[in-house]
Amino acid sequence: MQDRPLTFSKNVFLPLTTVCRNRCGYCCFRTPVQAGCLMVPAEVEKTLKNGSALGCTEALFTFGERPEEEQGFSAMIQAAGYPAILDYCEAMCRKSIASGVLPHTNAGIMSVEEMERLRPVNASMGLMLETTARVPAHRGSRGKEPEVRLAMIEDAGKLKIPFTTGLLLGIGETMADREDSLFAIRDIHRRYGHIQEIIIQNFCPKPGSPMATHPVPGTDEICVTIRMARDILPDDIAIQIPPNLIDASALIGCGVDDLGGVSPLTIDYVNPEHPWPAIEELRKLAGTRGLRERLCIYPQYIARGWYDKGLEPLINRLAQTVYGRSSGP
Ligand code: SF4
Repeated sequence: MQDRPLTFSKNVFLPLTTVCRNRCGYCCFRTPVQAGCLMVPAEVEKTLKNGSALGCTEALFTFGERPEEEQGFSAMIQAAGYPAILDYCEAMCRKSIASGVLPHTNAGIMSVEEMERLRPVNASMGLMLETTARVPAHRGSRGKEPEVRLAMIEDAGKLKIPFTTGLLLGIGETMADREDSLFAIRDIHRRYGHIQEIIIQNFCPKPGSPMATHPVPGTDEICVTIRMARDILPDDIAIQIPPNLIDASALIGCGVDDLGGVSPLTIDYVNPEHPWPAIEELRKLAGTRGLRERLCIYPQYIARGWYDKGLEPLINRLAQTVYGRSSGP
């Protein structure tokens, strides 16, 4: 895939809530239930409207996992007019579709029934596997148990949901653990064929977090991991790196296909100290390979019709704009 143009998705990032039941050692996103922990509907709608005007095609809904398990959150979301966060997410996904932007939700662990409910209003979904290893950084995070994450990724396959997953590097795992994680992803994809991309993401220490002084993997080590991913995974799974967190210029030659979601409007709320590069910078980075925009549902899944019929008009319209053709089955 190395001679193909690098791809990216023009998106807006909508962190519906910073409240989360987990306690990951590297997290600076999570907050207690407090003023400002919920992104209110007016802010979501304004972001969608402005994003759509800037040509964004993806609304990335990423937020804390099962926030209702935290004291006070249920009362807060009910006061906002929604029984629970996933009802709120579903309603905001509908607003996104009405604004002409395709939703992609990563809500942490969801059951089969919850994913089934969100599937009609999402073009794709995601959950980072992070690692199959048991690492101290995940102590206190029930949702980070590898078996739980692998089971959800597998369930998404059974539901034919085009899916994004990935590895988080530098959280206490070894190179052998990374290999094991990649084989686990490959095996699930062999059974269901739904993994459209994997993100190779480096952990970035944040001042004030419990892992502020934790050592981070260097560029050479990340390159070895990308090469390993390319060797283990089939060609139809794109390998993505986040260009705001990583030395992309040194790594794209290691086997990278995609630069992920890049926003002309919103910040990376998980890594707010790392601004997105401008799209012109990405174009320079891509050099002679070229840079091409894509949708959050990859073309092969559009061709297979792996989406709800209700999304078809929007997917076809955006495919026409981005690929210059309708990619319907
Ligand atoms: S699951 Fe995500 S938001 Fe929750 S504590 Fe872990 S890193 Fe933070």
